[in-house]
Amino acid sequence: MFHLDEPELASFPHAHCTKCQRDVVVYRELDDEREFAYHCVDCDTLTAEPGVTEWTAQEAEHKGYQLETTVPEGGGCGEGRCSH
Ligand SMILES: [Zn+2]
Repeated sequence: MFHLDEPELASFPHAHCTKCQRDVVVYRELDDEREFAYHCVDCDTLTAEPGVTEWTAQEAEHKGYQLETTVPEGGGCGEGRCSH
């Protein structure tokens, strides 16, 4: 789960995920060769490099992503209520 302070200002790189078979938001990590690699946020599958355009928060929500703008009250994994 990602928490955003100002979701309306955020933008989300996206690429096609072969496992999910749809366009997904991706995150970036350094691979073993210290090159950037992109992974699906849903299933961690390696994806192609995202395109230049990024989704706005509205577009990401339209694609089925739920953006949490507030931290749940009394939340946190230490409380034992985290679903993960
Ligand atoms: Zn995926």
